[in-house]
Amino acid sequence: MRVSHTKLDTYKQCPRKYKFYVDKAPQDPSRTLALRFGSAVHKALEFAYAKRYKYPPQERVIEYYKGLMRQETDPEVLKLFEKGIAALKNYLGKNEAAHMSIVEIEKKFLIELGNGHEIEGIIDRLDMLPDGSFEIIDYKTGQIPDAEKLGENWQLAIYQFAKQRKLQTNRIKASLVYIMFDGHKLTYQFGKDELERVRTEILSLVAKIEADTVFAPKTSAWCNTCAYQPICPAWVHKYNVKDQVLVGKIKDKDMIDIQSKIDRLLTVTAVIKKLDDETQQLKEIIAIFGKENNMTRLFSDLGTVSISFQKKRAYDAAKLAEVLRENLLRKIVKTIDTKKLEKAMPYLTEEERQQIAAFTKEKESSSVMVRPAIEEREDIDDLIST
Ligand code: SF4
Repeated sequence: MRVSHTKLDTYKQCPRKYKFYVDKAPQDPSRTLALRFGSAVHKALEFAYAKRYKYPPQERVIEYYKGLMRQETDPEVLKLFEKGIAALKNYLGKNEAAHMSIVEIEKKFLIELGNGHEIEGIIDRLDMLPDGSFEIIDYKTGQIPDAEKLGENWQLAIYQFAKQRKLQTNRIKASLVYIMFDGHKLTYQFGKDELERVRTEILSLVAKIEADTVFAPKTSAWCNTCAYQPICPAWVHKYNVKDQVLVGKIKDKDMIDIQSKIDRLLTVTAVIKKLDDETQQLKEIIAIFGKENNMTRLFSDLGTVSISFQKKRAYDAAKLAEVLRENLLRKIVKTIDTKKLEKAMPYLTEEERQQIAAFTKEKESSSVMVRPAIEEREDIDDLIST
């Protein structure tokens, strides 16, 4: 199987989005703004740094970029593209091609991953640094992520892995450059073991993708910017049907019927939730009353309420973990599982039992059983609403 960082990342975000992407499903243009903007900035930077353009002056790069936004008409989109002009001027002013040693621009790669799988990609830029080492540059037009997590960034790892194989040197680091944030740069150099860990993780994700036959939609904050939302099973009802049913545009009887069933189910579920909360509160109040007055059954014309009280041992898990870590007990009780612990008690030494007892408290709980005599009553709906 041939994958790319984009495909892997898309699958991690949502398997259905991945399926839409590889099947080249139609995208909603109103939801591709960030992609279009990112692509225009990348093209402008390629134009600025590719040797085949003989390092054009900044004004020409900006003209080229403006040409890319010619078809855009949406005021919001144009506002963002305008910000891109300032950001590009700033970046190009601080990073003049003539003073850099650019080795490659927008270079494609394809490498073997193992198990017959391959990974491909395009690296925005590769620079040679004054000390003879290399720096991979990947432009970003989004937000700056948490620098602490760079070691988990598959994209940088894949790029470094690809270039190390190609150039046969490990003197390579990889950087993300945030064009909209004054060219802020986050740099990481992966060690041999880290690259191997990422390669293994990628192979296991590839195996998961190969075995996937469902590609289930995974709703998350990514849906807000997903260009496939209007055709996604998780949203299609909201987009194409619900509103039209509500305004009476859809006359399909099945659709109208199911809409009323959905509304009823949601109403009933909300009522049950409210009643469950009330039931719990009432049980607690009644259990306290029973305990204080030494009563275990309470009566009404509507039925019976029975209360029972239990004492259970409760363990201070944090302290217990410390004791168990030092102890052979850890072999018997691998996690703080109180049921297993109680079963293991007879096999412990007196000293071990005492250590555990020091972190043990007796906890009283109650259970309340309700036997209503009202199930057959026809006025049950009235009783609930009173
Ligand atoms: S809208 Fe959400 S659930 Fe649907 S494909 Fe996109 S990310 Fe996945």
